[in-house]
Amino acid sequence: MGVELDRDWIAALPKAEVHLHLEGCIPGHVVFGSEPVPDPEIDNLADLLAHLDTLCGRIERADQLGEIARLVGQRASAAGALHVDLIVNPSHWPHWRDRLGAMVDALDGPLAEAEQDGGPTVGLCVSISRTHRAGQAEELVDRVLELAHPRIVGLSIDGNEAGGSHNERFVKAFDHARAAGLRRCAHAGESSGPEGVREAVEMLGAERIDHGIRCIGDPGLVADLARRGVPLDVCPTSNVVLGIVDDLASHPLEALRLAGVPVSLNTDDPLLYGIELVGEYERTAAAFGWGRAELGGVARTSIESCFASPDRRAALVSELDRFLAR
Ligand SMILES: [Zn+2]
Repeated sequence: MGVELDRDWIAALPKAEVHLHLEGCIPGHVVFGSEPVPDPEIDNLADLLAHLDTLCGRIERADQLGEIARLVGQRASAAGALHVDLIVNPSHWPHWRDRLGAMVDALDGPLAEAEQDGGPTVGLCVSISRTHRAGQAEELVDRVLELAHPRIVGLSIDGNEAGGSHNERFVKAFDHARAAGLRRCAHAGESSGPEGVREAVEMLGAERIDHGIRCIGDPGLVADLARRGVPLDVCPTSNVVLGIVDDLASHPLEALRLAGVPVSLNTDDPLLYGIELVGEYERTAAAFGWGRAELGGVARTSIESCFASPDRRAALVSELDRFLAR
């Protein structure tokens, strides 16, 4: 067993959160005001995505987006997350999907303010939907590149792969993003198996895999990911809630970490699951008997794999080193 971990130490541990969806960070009061907030039972990915559409469909005003962004910064600060890569999928947002520039501006102001007040740096990863056609994906990348907004750092792809991953459809969009200097991550190995993870790396050129845990079904792939140092942004509670794994104790995260695959801990959609990042570190540490060394290692992966600028990443690694040397 690891040493006694205290919550304050975990909250102070410098870290990044690299797998967080804006759509999973919408507080009920921003959507419903003083009306009662519905609380549906969610236990699978399809229901989760449908619920997100309901929430996002009611966000019409810039000040609502601003409030969501402000609270993202506040929760990150409380969890010791010094950088956040925030995934935004415009297709969930009917009032904003054709006004990406206005949407990013509405998020950018409060994020910049939080940063000036000592909060986290935040980079947006604009996300393609798995169900999109090739042309829609390429159009989204074109819009992101035209916008050239410094808040947007990456391209992502998310959604349900139950109907197939269709990676060949998205090769051109990802190639274009790479050529233009955008960072790239991809959801895979959640609702797809090991082949989805391999394709995300080899066909899409994803630098980081969101989830990726079902790579565990292919030992050769696990060895490849370890050798190439491809990081997985793991979200243990999300995987349990959506039935991807039975429980935390049987989560492949620990086997992957011991096999040398870089793994980080993240919340995915924290307000839908009623979780926060410190709790995710606590629960995982308890499940696998981790001490400070293991938690420090996971925090290091989170920072090294984040899409902050090289200078910012180096500063965060130094801050982590100083903290761990105390
Ligand atoms: Zn996700």
